Amino acid sequence: MSGKLVVLVGPAGAGKTTLAHRVIDRSPERRGFSVSHTTRPMRATEQNGVDYWFVTRAEFEQLRDQDGFAEWAEVHGNYYGTSRAEIARLTGAGRDVFFDIDIVGAHNLWRQYPSEVRLIFVLPPSWQVLVQRLVDRGSETEASLRRRLRTARRELQAVLASPAPWTVVHNDDLGRATADLERAVSEPLQPTAMEQHPGLRAFLREAMADPRADAEVTAQ
Ligand code: 5GP
Repeated sequence: MSGKLVVLVGPAGAGKTTLAHRVIDRSPERRGFSVSHTTRPMRATEQNGVDYWFVTRAEFEQLRDQDGFAEWAEVHGNYYGTSRAEIARLTGAGRDVFFDIDIVGAHNLWRQYPSEVRLIFVLPPSWQVLVQRLVDRGSETEASLRRRLRTARRELQAVLASPAPWTVVHNDDLGRATADLERAVSEPLQPTAMEQHPGLRAFLREAMADPRADAEVTAQ
C-alpha cells in the first residue's frame, strides 16, 4: 500500500469532515475520502454514495459475513463500517485516504496497517463550544445531547489511554487546524504526550465537570 491512511477521530461537531475535505481539496488527485457503509437513516442533507453508502441491516450483515469490511462498529445502535473495496479503490490509485470513524474502528485499522495509519484526534475549540454547536443544530433531544456528550467524554478518555500514537489537531481556528492536519499527514510522525497538550487538558477538565456527560444511571 503506497498511500497513508489518515484516521480522524473526535466528537460529533468537532469539524472532522470539514477539515478532511479542506486538506483533500488542496490536492484531490493525491487524496480521497473513504465513504463508509451505514445502516442509519439518511439525513435530508446527505447523499447516498457521497456521505455514506446507506444499506439495510441485512445487507450490512451479509457484507460483514463475507469479510467485506476492513473494520466495522456499532455506534448509537447503528452499524458503520469501512469496506475493503473502498480502501483498495483509493489506495490502489496511490492516494492518501481520509477516514471519519469512531475510536473502535480507528484502533482496528491501526492494528491492521500500523505503518500506514496516522491517528488524528480532532479537538473542538472547547467543551462549551461543542455543547453549543450540538444545541444550535436543533436536532438533539435532551437524551440524545447527553448521549453524544457521554460518547465524547468516553472517546477522549479512550484516546488518552490508547496504546497507539496520536496527533492532536485543535480546531479552534480552521485555517491553522487545516495547516496542522496537512503537516501531520506529510511529515514524519513526532510522538507527543497527549496529556501535555494544553487544549486537550482543558477540554478533559470541562468534560469531567459536566454532569450531562456522566454515565447513564439505569433504573433498578
Ligand atoms: P454519524 O451518524 O453522526 O454520521 O456518525 C456517528 C459516528 O460513527 C461518528 O463517530 C463516526 O465517526 C462513526 N463512523 C462513521 N463511519 C464509520 C465507519 O466506517 N466505521 C466506524 N468504526 N465508525 C464510523
